[in-house]
Amino acid sequence: MDDVGVILVRGSDVVTMDSHDTVVSDGAVRVEGSLITGVGTWADLRALHPDATVIGNADAIVTPGYINAHQHMTGDRLVHSCIPDAIDSQEAIFGWAVPVHSAHTPDDDELSATLAAVEALTNGITCTVEAGTVANPDRVAMGMLHAGIRGTVGRWGWDVEGVPFGAPTDEVLALQAEMLDRHPTGGLVEAWVTLVGHDLMSDDLLVGASELARNRQTGLTFHISPHRGDAGLYLERTGRRPVVHFHDLGALGPHVLLAHAVHLDEQEVECVLETNTAVASCPWAYLRLAQGFTAGCHPTLFHREARLALGCDAENAGDAVDILRAASLFVGLARDMSMDAFSMTAHDGLALATRRGAEAIGKGNLIGSLEIGKQADLVVHDTSGPQFLPRSTDAVRQLVWASDGRSVRDVIVAGRHVVRDGQCISVDVNSVRAEALDRRDHLLRARG
Ligand SMILES: [Zn+2]
Repeated sequence: MDDVGVILVRGSDVVTMDSHDTVVSDGAVRVEGSLITGVGTWADLRALHPDATVIGNADAIVTPGYINAHQHMTGDRLVHSCIPDAIDSQEAIFGWAVPVHSAHTPDDDELSATLAAVEALTNGITCTVEAGTVANPDRVAMGMLHAGIRGTVGRWGWDVEGVPFGAPTDEVLALQAEMLDRHPTGGLVEAWVTLVGHDLMSDDLLVGASELARNRQTGLTFHISPHRGDAGLYLERTGRRPVVHFHDLGALGPHVLLAHAVHLDEQEVECVLETNTAVASCPWAYLRLAQGFTAGCHPTLFHREARLALGCDAENAGDAVDILRAASLFVGLARDMSMDAFSMTAHDGLALATRRGAEAIGKGNLIGSLEIGKQADLVVHDTSGPQFLPRSTDAVRQLVWASDGRSVRDVIVAGRHVVRDGQCISVDVNSVRAEALDRRDHLLRARG
């Protein structure tokens, strides 16, 4: 039995997302351990491995795992879709975010992260950049590892005066460094230097965080300019728009992933491009929160080949943890804004969800395409649903425009089979259903 431990992932279309956008018809991907060791036709690979385990079938669409470059895994998950649409940002922060975050126990943080990871995996997301957790980031890492999703975690801290739970700059940076020690680069889940952003960081904290990430060869992520308010605060304090200010501080660079950065002016866009800084775009969040995607710069960043990825944000902002939904929305809005049918296509949307997303989070050499030597992060889409009836001659176009995470049937992360027949098999979701409801009620009571 030479084929022990060999998995062949089969599909009518193996969409590799390599640099030539190769699609192998009636193809297969060979997985051994955590790695992809072959990509070719089903006939050739099956002849070599007659006894290998097979995932997928002759009608499936196989893609790389999707990259979610900005996801809150705590705070909102247990009050998923509870925060009303019709509130202002002050009510959202002080009426909801602060009391709900404060009432979280360590168990709540792990449960939240586990549920967020389960939803992500069942929609084909295999790598998530966590947006940051206040109190128990190690428990978030445990939840992600249990579910079997790849990703990064971070501990939030802030040093501005007059804000509850703040700490001196050195203390915040020391806690960040401890996180990097506990979750080093190279693991399935690794720590990134993670700040809240907006105006919750002094210049010293931002510069120190950027240096820490640069020295430790890891990432730094924080929020900026999902709406226009951040620019006003920075103009008042520094006389410069935020991203110009960060550039002048020397804090930008290829190790930095800005969450949002929707409302950048021309000078700020130049700062992003010049420093090779990455941006995570969460289009559903901007629509849900009425923040003005169509008045923003993300299509410009796309066309100017900035390092750009997609994200789903929080469960009271994007709500659905589904990158294919974000991809079709991003492309659809960008096409509408330009009123140019040649401006962007479904294939561009899938690239943002895979190859370009992986490059934006600094992991283009590891994930984002189906190529020999890369990590075995794969998605098998079932095409028996009515949205595939009849099948298109272009699998990518049909996947992006007609389907979404609902067609995900199997998911493999680093060679581990974590979703089978549409169900997450690494976590017994039914066993935590009652607990999730109970914790939701507890958190809703805690906010009064
Ligand atoms: Zn966020």
